[in-house]
Amino acid sequence: MMTSTIHTLQEQFRHLRMAETAEELPVLLRNAEKSSWTYQEFIQEILSYELKRRDEKNVERRLKWAKFPYIKSLDEFNIEEQASLSTRQLNQLKELTWLEQQYNLILLGPPGSGKTHISIGLGLEAIQKGFKVAFSTMGELTHLLKTEEYIRKSQMQIKRIKESDLVIIDDLMYMAMDQREANLFFHLINHLYERSSVILTSNKGPEQWGELMGDQGITTAILDRLLHRVEVIQLNENDSYRIKNRTTIFGKESVQN
Ligand code: ADP
Ligand code: MG
Repeated sequence: MMTSTIHTLQEQFRHLRMAETAEELPVLLRNAEKSSWTYQEFIQEILSYELKRRDEKNVERRLKWAKFPYIKSLDEFNIEEQASLSTRQLNQLKELTWLEQQYNLILLGPPGSGKTHISIGLGLEAIQKGFKVAFSTMGELTHLLKTEEYIRKSQMQIKRIKESDLVIIDDLMYMAMDQREANLFFHLINHLYERSSVILTSNKGPEQWGELMGDQGITTAILDRLLHRVEVIQLNENDSYRIKNRTTIFGKESVQN
């Protein structure tokens, strides 16, 4: 086949928004000749190539959208280190039935117990399955909510969160909220209610959220929505993976002193 003809075909594929196939066409044609594909096989190869590349691009797009602080999968999570969660439970979470049914998850535990890691790992699973995920720390989220009205970037970020199937809010109650912040947070949770799933991580249990949010009425309203369909996972109280596996500038002996 003449090169100019291939060029025309590529243009036509682009026109049909099959840019990936357009790009790959010379290779696909060569493979077809080399392996003597039937007409049907050739069409199958072209279509599955385009679909596969689109899938990959969509995963990349959703990864960017999520804004994870770091990428760590659940495969990298050492379940033996976390006595309060069984392999079976983790696998069950991985299946994402809770997300399909718009359940929320609350991950509780002290610093270093794996709350952020597990929430990112579940977020990655969700992205692979085609869900839109948004990650934010509570601190960032509070800032976004407070500046939404007059900073366009904040407005876009809030939009991103509201449009996601899974919203991860990391480190809730790291600091106390004032009444206005609690109010704004309530409105967001109310918007997400029965529309998306929320993963909340916190080092304090819901029974302590009241005093941190200041207003008992708002706290009750927030909890009402969050706890309506929820799985609460309490991670180990005393094992900090960070501390156990920390690297140190001293040798082993000096650490003990
Ligand atoms: P938290 O959010 O509860 O404070 P993180 O999830 O940030 O804790 O965990 C702290 C660090 O330790 C992270 O780098 C995380 O990947 C790692 N970590 C914690 N628990 C485990 C575990 N059971 N297996 C592997 N890595 C872990
Ligand atoms: Mg964390």
